[in-house]
Amino acid sequence: MAVEARISIADLSYKMVPEHKAGDLTTCSSVHIRCKVTVKYASRRLRGNGKPVRDRQPDKSWTTDESRPVPDHSIFLRYEDTRRALQEMLASMPRLRDLDLSPDNWEAEPAAERAAGTLHRFARGENEQGRWTGARYRFEVHLSLEVTLVFSEPRALVGACVEGTMQTVAPGSDEACGICLEEFSKGRGSDPVNLPCEHAFHAHCVLACFYKGNTCPVCRHDLSGLVAAPWTKLAA
Ligand SMILES: [Zn+2]
Ligand SMILES: [Zn+2]
Repeated sequence: MAVEARISIADLSYKMVPEHKAGDLTTCSSVHIRCKVTVKYASRRLRGNGKPVRDRQPDKSWTTDESRPVPDHSIFLRYEDTRRALQEMLASMPRLRDLDLSPDNWEAEPAAERAAGTLHRFARGENEQGRWTGARYRFEVHLSLEVTLVFSEPRALVGACVEGTMQTVAPGSDEACGICLEEFSKGRGSDPVNLPCEHAFHAHCVLACFYKGNTCPVCRHDLSGLVAAPWTKLAA
């Protein structure tokens, strides 16, 4: 994948809104999530040593809302059940669905974990005070997420060479990688990749080179201009 997402929580707060309609059987506890998302765009450039730099693409931001009834509010007394409920809720919110919220993409604790910790602590406190049973709670969770989409030009370039160039060297070939000089048949590295100039290298060897240069390491064939971040294409 040439685009990775880095997600961080810019702000998280909650409010517990007291429910007074105790006689109304249709009312149960509920959670309302209001989430603001700001997307920023960056690229790791060819010759950029792997460091992401911000693209000129303007930030995009939007707000999305979701409310869910929680018929059995005893789930808030159990951290794991609370986390799972919030996780499901976030994953199903229409304007969050396109973001990859998997745990690896978060800079720190994922939002569902942090929000679950907060609501769970509140529930435990209420329970210790003897106020939990029979009460109804409406939680308003306000979340502000910052998502940085990082396009990797070196990764995209390796992919573009594999897709756009006739691949003539098989993984079992006796030919050697032009960078580490090991034969591909030894199979200790990644699969061979032919560049448009036909020189072949292990994918991981040539990827490392593209962080420092934009030419074939053997013949200096110029490989610049073959890839661009999807958002720069949109802006063009
Ligand atoms: Zn190699
Ligand atoms: Zn070459």
